[in-house]
Amino acid sequence: MTDHLDAAGQVRDLHAFVAGLPKAELHVHHVGSASPRIVSELAARHPDSKVPTDPEALADYFTFTDFAHFIEVYLSVVDLVRTPEDVRLLTFEVARELARQQVRYAELTITPFSSTRRGIDERGFMDAIEDARKAAETEFGTVLRWCFDIPGEAGLESAEETVRMATDDRLRPEGLVSFGLGGPEIGVPRPQFKPYFDRAVAAGLRSVPHAGETTGPETVWDALHELGAERIGHGTSSAGDPGLLQYLAERRIPLEVCPTSNIATRAVTTLDEHPLKEFVRAGVLVTVGSDDPPMFGTDLNNEFAVAARLLDLDERGVAGLARNGVEASFLDAAGKARLAAEIDAYTETWLAS
Ligand SMILES: [Zn+2]
Repeated sequence: MTDHLDAAGQVRDLHAFVAGLPKAELHVHHVGSASPRIVSELAARHPDSKVPTDPEALADYFTFTDFAHFIEVYLSVVDLVRTPEDVRLLTFEVARELARQQVRYAELTITPFSSTRRGIDERGFMDAIEDARKAAETEFGTVLRWCFDIPGEAGLESAEETVRMATDDRLRPEGLVSFGLGGPEIGVPRPQFKPYFDRAVAAGLRSVPHAGETTGPETVWDALHELGAERIGHGTSSAGDPGLLQYLAERRIPLEVCPTSNIATRAVTTLDEHPLKEFVRAGVLVTVGSDDPPMFGTDLNNEFAVAARLLDLDERGVAGLARNGVEASFLDAAGKARLAAEIDAYTETWLAS
């Protein structure tokens, strides 16, 4: 946004405001949050991987041509996470990065199947994320919760394994709150995952599938009707369907919007064409997420700044966006009230100074 408004002192102020603003992050992926520093550390641990260890070569490696290429790169980083210690390190370092951005609460999307099928012991995996969660809360004060998602490209076997790990009382981690579906949408119809979502929801998990990122609004309808979606990951193509926007608005079903990700994967051609404004105009509750931040050269603070520019928001508007994240979260009522009050107090102090 500084590119557009670089003359104004207010822009720098807005960046500073965002940087200190307490926030909730609801759309961010575990492996997709691995910073170049972490990736290079993991790549050095596992020299047989194709992933470069040199930061400059890594930056080139992270430049995507399209969504399929992004998935390919993403999976090569997944392949670097091979031991419970790798999992623990990654999770803790992701929390450090969130804490740096004043994220007080995050629902981190984790794909356990990608790790367990590569041979990481299930128990070891669950213990590693839980250990990192507790350490991060103590050290940084950032509360982490998990969304276990099905990697759509891996088919129904992955769905079965993911729901089993999410619902088996001997494995299910304490921090798990929701159940998701990621990966490519083209050629991966949502309705086939209905039985797995039904089981997850019956076990008390909330339904948060990705939908309408690279396919049309019918995928979002499927996510709502077949998978019982309570929030939609992306939902970008909802913009083409006024009836869908009205449905989302009336039921307060949030869209988790990740603008820079949408450009990086070519889901949206340019930021100026991003439908965020249309969502807000239609009364849809929107939240801002960073998706796979280092891979897309962004972070949550930058996504707030991008959203502020797209929506032409001042500090109070940006604080409202942060409060949307709290409202759309799966925090309990007391946790929501506390974080919303913290956002308000920060905003009022900022504006008074
Ligand atoms: Zn995502």
